[in-house]
Amino acid sequence: MKGSVAVIGAGPAGLMAADVLQAGGASVHVFDAMASAGRKFLLAGIGGLNLTHSEALPGFLARYAERAPALQPFLADFGPDAVRAWAGELGIETFVGTSGRVFPKDMKAAPLLRAWLHRLRAGGAGRPPVQFHMRRRWLGWTGDGSALCLAGPDGESTFAADATVLALGGASWPRLGSDGAWVPLLAGRGVAIAPLRASNCGFDVAPTGPDRTGWSAHLRERFAGEPVKPVAISAADAAGVVHRQQGEFVVTETGVEGSLVYAFSAGLREQIAARGEATLVLDLLPQHTPEQVRAETRRPRGARSLSTHLKSRLHLQGVKMGLLHELLTPAQMNDPDALAGLIKALPLRLAAPRPIAEAISSAGGVRLDALDASLMARAAPGVFVAGEMLDWEAPTGGYLLTACLATGRAAGRGALAWLQGR
Ligand SMILES: Cc1cc2nc3c(=O)[nH]c(=O)nc-3n(C[C@H](O)[C@H](O)[C@H](O)COP(=O)(O)OP(=O)(O)OC[C@H]3O[C@@H](n4cnc5c(N)ncnc54)[C@H](O)[C@@H]3O)c2cc1C
Repeated sequence: MKGSVAVIGAGPAGLMAADVLQAGGASVHVFDAMASAGRKFLLAGIGGLNLTHSEALPGFLARYAERAPALQPFLADFGPDAVRAWAGELGIETFVGTSGRVFPKDMKAAPLLRAWLHRLRAGGAGRPPVQFHMRRRWLGWTGDGSALCLAGPDGESTFAADATVLALGGASWPRLGSDGAWVPLLAGRGVAIAPLRASNCGFDVAPTGPDRTGWSAHLRERFAGEPVKPVAISAADAAGVVHRQQGEFVVTETGVEGSLVYAFSAGLREQIAARGEATLVLDLLPQHTPEQVRAETRRPRGARSLSTHLKSRLHLQGVKMGLLHELLTPAQMNDPDALAGLIKALPLRLAAPRPIAEAISSAGGVRLDALDASLMARAAPGVFVAGEMLDWEAPTGGYLLTACLATGRAAGRGALAWLQGR
């Protein structure tokens, strides 16, 4: 295929676009501001690299909430099975964990990334080698829009390609390269963008007493960093529907974070934006019924302290007891029925999401209605957009990488079709 394509961003979305373009015979140039490719992908490997999820497609799609219909064609074309097959082609076997999450057998990102980059760089069998240009920051377009402006170690330069795929990521963990600096560049070309917001993020708690900001010094000093488990959270999603999920989270210096909190983060963030705060409800003993808990809090404890009683009868101790002391009044602690009720449904008020730089991912980005079915920006013909910089969000569980790979593939295909149609 004649024609050159610039892919900007060497994360999973950009590399997948490059892969498809290479397989189609295009001359592909990948640019990235960082010194090496896939920094955030490698970071994801520290948590075991949850590549995708094994659940059936309808349930899988539902994780993208109101963006599910727009993402459906991309995920139907390249869903969980395709992700596993792609990893397999690169020599990486995957397995389904107990939670249904899919990981490489060695739980590492580096071997997969290495094999992928090798295939892209080496080319062969109808695949022209992909040219990588690292430490090249994309700054926008030349005045007439005909070429890309780049800054590198040798100064500024321009690059004219027949098509461009932008896969610049969101704005979480900016030190790994995706800093959201592309927002004004695309807005300047007339591409509609929803504001970037923290997704899969922690939260600061609202003051827990009249004279406090956030947690008390006691809770912070004793329990910051402690996991709370098992625990269930009930909270409303972005549409106001209340969900309950069991798992674990971590008490931080200023609030809460961790996988169970991330699962609720979109709804909590939207409630805080609308009302100034949000409440999640903790069940500190998810394996006990309310009746079992009440029977134990009512049981006479003789000379034993309440803490000793709850520890021996209900295994309530450590950070869970810390949370009860933090959030309950002395009167509630000493009323067996009130205590039982609050152990099973403890409201925790949240004041603010943590900053986007600390989040696992971003919500917001290039609006999907600003793109055509091949992910080309309607306002910028020949410019395709993929990955986390698109306006969708999903919980952790492999849904993020899968949608990045699927949209990267669609954008690559779109750019190929654009070259063919020129
Ligand atoms: C701690 C952590 C753990 C995670 N674990 C998982 C997980 O297990 N499973 C999962 O599904 N997801 C996980 N994610 C999320 C997942 O890693 C991201 O959603 C995914 O990497 C996004 O891919 P992307 O290609 O869209 O963007 P990125 O991976 O962010 O890549 C964007 C690239 O664009 C480059 N770039 C940005 N701006 C410019 C510019 N102006 N010029 C040139 N280059 C530029 C960046 O340097 C970067 O290399 C995790 C994220 C974090 C932070």
